[in-house]
Amino acid sequence: MDRDEPGLRVAIIGAGMGGLACALALAKHGIPQVDVYETASNLGFVGAGIQLAPNMGRILDRLGCWETIAMEATDIKSASIRKHNDNKELAHVDLSYIRREYGMPHMVEYTKACKKEKAITFHFKSSCSDIKSWTPKPTFTVVPREGAPYDVSADVLLAADGIKSIVRSKILKELGVKAEVTDSGQSSYRIMLTREQMASDPEMLELLDSDRVTRWLGERRHIIAYPISNKNIYNISSAQPDIHFAEAPSATYTTRGSKADMLDNFKECCPLVQRMLNLVPDGEVCEWKLRVHSPLPTWVKGNVALLGDACHPSLPHLNQGAAQAIEDGAVLAVVLSKLPDHSPESINKALRVYELIRKERAETLVDLAAASCKTLHLGEGAAREERDRQFAALKDQGGPSPDKSVDEAVNKMVLGTDVMQIAQDDFEGFFRSLELTKLA
Ligand SMILES: Cc1cc2nc3c(=O)[nH]c(=O)nc-3n(C[C@H](O)[C@H](O)[C@H](O)COP(=O)(O)OP(=O)(O)OC[C@H]3O[C@@H](n4cnc5c(N)ncnc54)[C@H](O)[C@@H]3O)c2cc1C
Repeated sequence: MDRDEPGLRVAIIGAGMGGLACALALAKHGIPQVDVYETASNLGFVGAGIQLAPNMGRILDRLGCWETIAMEATDIKSASIRKHNDNKELAHVDLSYIRREYGMPHMVEYTKACKKEKAITFHFKSSCSDIKSWTPKPTFTVVPREGAPYDVSADVLLAADGIKSIVRSKILKELGVKAEVTDSGQSSYRIMLTREQMASDPEMLELLDSDRVTRWLGERRHIIAYPISNKNIYNISSAQPDIHFAEAPSATYTTRGSKADMLDNFKECCPLVQRMLNLVPDGEVCEWKLRVHSPLPTWVKGNVALLGDACHPSLPHLNQGAAQAIEDGAVLAVVLSKLPDHSPESINKALRVYELIRKERAETLVDLAAASCKTLHLGEGAAREERDRQFAALKDQGGPSPDKSVDEAVNKMVLGTDVMQIAQDDFEGFFRSLELTKLA
């Protein structure tokens, strides 16, 4: 790191939702030097509409970049769960008890917010290729797209390098633990239809103009859709068996999908859904491979910590992947700002406090998303009949739901917990309770 400010020097690998939120939170908490290394040539955007859940909004608001994102978002007030083949409603769930918005978290807002922070320096076209040391000064090799590789040392290294994290692989190798990316056997199409495309279809327009998220459930597949961008775009995403899973995935796990395969996957859907899928232009089908990872024994090694999809990639069925990455970044900023001193031992303890606050919660949500997926994708039989009875009992009320993303107790736990506040309030107790670890 080339600047020489007094105070803690933090390096972040990866400028996705997690890395950026972390950089911004660190700067807001007075960390004077935050360097972000990113393979891409600039900041992109998530590529689709996502749920901007209140636990994410609360943090982004504190980081000063929520207002503009929220301006275009749709405030969703209810969920409609339907059968995919005849469009029959299984449940209508009132969500007005908890405000939740759906939209596109354009990185533009983040970029603007980051640019205002003198502490943050971006190094684009720069990939981390190796970790040379974990402590006392974590050191890693950066390979720039042009020029020779070089080594960087910092006081703390935070790896927000996504589901294919090389830092995670190196930690697991050091620990002698075999844990791997797991193929979920599913992929997801992500589609955005414009108001213009939907204009001549009254049934579609009703969906676009609603304040509703709709899920159409079929066997081993479903579609979830909601309006975003001031109701000018209808955002659709799906989950279905990944018929191409044996093919080598791209770096990002996204591929250009085939429209014929997509239509075939949802050929049993009701005419409304089929008409919407048919609107997607040939050659513009975006398909994501859905991958998870077996749980890690730890997120911390020496003065290095993992965050976001690097340590808890999830199936998307709880709509919490980005929100959880942002929670990680925010908690890291709080614990590092509360360090009593900058010794490697104290930094390691603070990173373990972060792990204590975050790991169990994030892994619980990964498990809930996987369990919800199994229930949502049930085939004909007694289990599905029971599920649909539970959906019917839900009609217009809160309470327990087979779809965990609209389960009242789950929502109160997921959306109502303020992890930044917990870190503020409980840091000292956790810090004192941890033994010093001999670092090597
Ligand atoms: C179909 C689908 C739907 C989803 N819907 C939602 C939703 O509704 N709500 C929600 O909250 N989440 C959702 N998610 C999840 C969410 O998109 C991810 O969980 C989130 O983006 C993870 O952020 P991250 O920063 O950890 O990782 P990423 O966004 O993957 O960022 C990692 C970054 O690190 C960079 N990088 C990687 N390796 C290196 C290296 N060696 N050196 C330098 N840079 C590197 C990459 O270029 C990238 O910019 C969804 C995901 C999918 C697949």
